Amino acid sequence: MMDNARIHPILKEIAAIFATGGKKAYLVGGAVRDTIRGKKAEDWDLATDATPQEVMKLFRRVVPTGIKHGTVTILYKGHSLETTTFRTESDYTDGRRPDSVSYAATIEEDLSRRDFTMNAIALELPTGRVVDPFGGAADIRKRIIRCVGNPAERFSEDGLRPLRAARFAAQLEFDLDPATREAIPESLGKTALVAMERVRDELDKTLRSEIPSRGFLVMEQTGLLNLLLPELARCRGVEQKGNHRFDVLDHLLVACDKTPNDRPAVRLAALFHDIGKPVVESYDESGVRTFHRHEAESARIAERIMLRLRYPTAAVKAVGHLVANHMFHYEDTWTDAAVRRFLVRVGTDRLEDVYALRRADTWATFGAEPPRDALLPLMRRVDSVLAAGRALSLKDLAVNGEDLARLGIAKGPRMGAILNELLETVLDDPAMNEREKLLVVAGRLNAR
Ligand code: ATP
Ligand code: MG
Repeated sequence: MMDNARIHPILKEIAAIFATGGKKAYLVGGAVRDTIRGKKAEDWDLATDATPQEVMKLFRRVVPTGIKHGTVTILYKGHSLETTTFRTESDYTDGRRPDSVSYAATIEEDLSRRDFTMNAIALELPTGRVVDPFGGAADIRKRIIRCVGNPAERFSEDGLRPLRAARFAAQLEFDLDPATREAIPESLGKTALVAMERVRDELDKTLRSEIPSRGFLVMEQTGLLNLLLPELARCRGVEQKGNHRFDVLDHLLVACDKTPNDRPAVRLAALFHDIGKPVVESYDESGVRTFHRHEAESARIAERIMLRLRYPTAAVKAVGHLVANHMFHYEDTWTDAAVRRFLVRVGTDRLEDVYALRRADTWATFGAEPPRDALLPLMRRVDSVLAAGRALSLKDLAVNGEDLARLGIAKGPRMGAILNELLETVLDDPAMNEREKLLVVAGRLNAR
């Protein structure tokens, strides 16, 4: 029995409305799991014996969000509650969707179709009576992810479930029950059929957790990583020289863990920043191993992976850019011009991301937290160069395309090249950023 006082008043009101129609309502899913863990529930999912049509009659504002699957969304006093009629089957996420739902008679039957014991607990409303036929509460206390029933069967029904298990391992910091973990390798064929968008959503949830590596390590142990991110799996055992404490895979995972979990682009960039190392690995004449230009190869691979996972183009570009530009080595001997070039290369709006990625990269190299002020010398130089307000992009130049056109320079690639050379000139020597001076340089360039 859950303490009745802990049932949210809104949920009690909603249960009372179901009761006017002689219907029952249960809180299910993540909200119950989180309540039992003593965490605040994120969003509310309900299960009911009322059909979607009946729910729509009982409540004034109901959105038919998934009628085919028996789901509607109740909008009530600023809350939205996804409400699903008791069902016998879940929606399979690998193309084998049931055409029509079959409704179940009892909450117990509904719970038996759910993936993990911790997700197969219901709270009767408004009483707070706990319906827990599979020992989910005990598993939550033990921090164990365990399939409801036979793991091999549950995974063969729906290939998304293994990936959910790995994601929950990261999100909740739980472990997989051995029988559940051991059933994953044989069900990989099913997971291979899952739509890439669904894979991406699980990956994103993993990346938002405090320690994403927990999920990736489960994926590695069970073959999910090799199936879905083979480029990452390949980094296992690729040893690094010098100060490096970890192989490439652990280096990437630690770096990912050490980036802020509310910056998805930085997290992905950390996860992928050296992923090209196994590809470019080579030995020079004296037998010393090098990873020449690995950042470019890593950026290419990162972009390929993200396109495969159907990330939006802007996200793909942002991550590719961070990965391609993660190799810089600031020294106090850098001239202001060098700092300006650095700024142009990484982009002033990307500085925070670049700093965060570098901090994580250093952390994952030595396996220890870098000093707070490790990047301070570079940051100070950057700030002072920015404060000087010098030209850092084409739009800051004292001349524009129209000016060049009047010199007889044809618009198009040639003009673009000349404008870029003018920017180079100005980056080297900001005093050159005057109209007359730049027109002279442009004329000279055009005559070449
Ligand atoms: P979160 O909302 O934090 O991702 P959740 O457990 O609420 O976690 P949802 O995807 O919202 O996850 O699903 C709600 C519930 O539906 C789950 O708790 C589980 O009982 C059930 N469920 C979801 N997906 C599946 C699935 N693929 N197979 C079986 N049951 C599932
Ligand atoms: Mg949920």
